[in-house]
Amino acid sequence: MTVPLTMMNRREALATLGSAGLGLLAMRVSSVYADEVKQNAVSTALAKFNDKSRQRLLRILKEPGFGGYVPSAEVKALLDDEEKSIDALMIELLPLAKTYSHPPISNYYVGAVARGTSGNLYLGANIEFPGHSLGFSVHGEQSALSNAYMHSDGGVSSIAVTAAPCGHCRQFMNELSPDGDIQVLVEGKPAVKLSSLLPSAFGPKDLGVTDLAFPVREVDLILPKGQSDTLVLAALGAARKSYAPYTKAHSGVAIVTQTGHRYKGAYIENAAYNPSLPPLQTALVALIIAGESYSAISEVALVEMEGAPISQKSVAEAVLSAIASAVKLRVVNATMKA
Ligand SMILES: [Zn+2]
Repeated sequence: MTVPLTMMNRREALATLGSAGLGLLAMRVSSVYADEVKQNAVSTALAKFNDKSRQRLLRILKEPGFGGYVPSAEVKALLDDEEKSIDALMIELLPLAKTYSHPPISNYYVGAVARGTSGNLYLGANIEFPGHSLGFSVHGEQSALSNAYMHSDGGVSSIAVTAAPCGHCRQFMNELSPDGDIQVLVEGKPAVKLSSLLPSAFGPKDLGVTDLAFPVREVDLILPKGQSDTLVLAALGAARKSYAPYTKAHSGVAIVTQTGHRYKGAYIENAAYNPSLPPLQTALVALIIAGESYSAISEVALVEMEGAPISQKSVAEAVLSAIASAVKLRVVNATMKA
């Protein structure tokens, strides 16, 4: 190994994990992730899996462009190899999800795994931004659910979480499952439906919204003529996919990193207005679950609607100042096609 371990990024660390013994790596991994994931090393996180499953998961995590989820065919193979129920598998993946957690304020690590109706399993983890309002933070459940949303899954049937979902997350989940059908799984507790965790919920139907978050739809936003920048076009793609039935203020963010990878985030609104998930936060979820770090961010673009009642610009700039202060946010206004 010629690269200093502290300089290795997560992907390189995973490559090392795949080719060496786990015992040796427990030490290496802890030094690689000392700043961000502390004791939640990948080797420890996968310890409960058998060798075949562990190798399968490491291969998926190492794939270039890993999208932050375990595809349904791989989920089926894991279920066969582990001889477990889907609920048990989701619980078993939580320590892995937790390794993506970035909680520099609370130091409270949360992992979540959401099951799409496609059968894919989406990872999620909590994110906090030092120096700013706690209202900017993303909870683990929001992270896993936004991951499923950004992949345009047909819906979410269940979610496993390392601790009972807080009230904020119950409200966020209710937007994506207004009938309360999502099964909530917490280790050591019986599976429960969201409707029993959030009875008499206030949701989209109370505000007359019938076009729900799932299935994901696209709105017909357009940019000013002559806009051909690829990052801005990616942000437009995210904005088109955003869910903003209350304010109609569609918005999206695209991030490009030094590795050349691009991450998109759509705004996901809530009937209670807060918690709504800003588009930069959604894009940052994609970035961290792909195994990249904030220091790799090179450019960020926000597309939002001209003359809308709300704007994501100030929040996005504030969050960026906390994690990538040298990066200047580019903002382009879009309009709805007449
Ligand atoms: Zn929460």
